[in-house]
Amino acid sequence: MATLLLSILIFFLGASVGSFLSVVVYRIEKKKSGIIFGHSFCPSCKKRLRSRDLVPIVSYLMLRGKCGQCGTKISPIYLFIEIVTGLMFLSLYFRYPFLESASLESATLSTPLLISFTFFAIYTSFFVAIFFYDLKTKKIPDVFLFPLILFTAVGTLTLGTPSFVSVLLALAIAAVFFGGQIVVSKGKWLGEGDFYLALALAIIFGWELFVTNIVISYFLGAIMGIALLATKKATKKTAIPFGPFLVLGAIITIFFGQDLMNLYLSNLTI
Ligand SMILES: [Zn+2]
Repeated sequence: MATLLLSILIFFLGASVGSFLSVVVYRIEKKKSGIIFGHSFCPSCKKRLRSRDLVPIVSYLMLRGKCGQCGTKISPIYLFIEIVTGLMFLSLYFRYPFLESASLESATLSTPLLISFTFFAIYTSFFVAIFFYDLKTKKIPDVFLFPLILFTAVGTLTLGTPSFVSVLLALAIAAVFFGGQIVVSKGKWLGEGDFYLALALAIIFGWELFVTNIVISYFLGAIMGIALLATKKATKKTAIPFGPFLVLGAIITIFFGQDLMNLYLSNLTI
């Protein structure tokens, strides 16, 4: 029971962060001031949202996807971002169950798990913002990238994993593989933003999982590319942003990277 209650709370914590992220993405894209502390308002009627219109997921469903004051339709993408972030936080909680017990009174808190949960919750929040922003604008803004790199450096130092040598190797791979592609293609295949994102992923994962991340991302990218070409939604010249595939690959790597790597390695030795 306590676990169920806690799971719901963690999900809504994630959904609230998702709600915040969609506002951040909107404001950075429209170059609005007050990225963090400004009041939320309806982009159509410019009225400030009432607090009861700000409950993640619930408000959207109650208002049937419309502004509570002028009735303008609100894109379901906002609801989607809230649900996705909520599910992400919940999955992270199952991976790092920092509070476990039969009842809330006898709950014991595991500080190491809480720290892991917190850092990975921060990383995935950045990933969600980068995913939707890059998909929309084909750019990754510096205001996401440099704080993310800073958080990953602090996170890896705090968690003590991956090792320093592993991170250095991963950074070298990122520099050669992504830096090389940018130089060779003069920035046509990959943008500078993808490069900085790759550095952050290298710091999070260390070289083995970072390589896993890259393989998954290119695999997803290839599937998407083939699907777009087959359905004639794109030609060979269409520029598809790579950032969304990198973060999607990173999320898969967080949850399944170790298993995928073990699977690969066990098949290799047979
Ligand atoms: Zn409105």
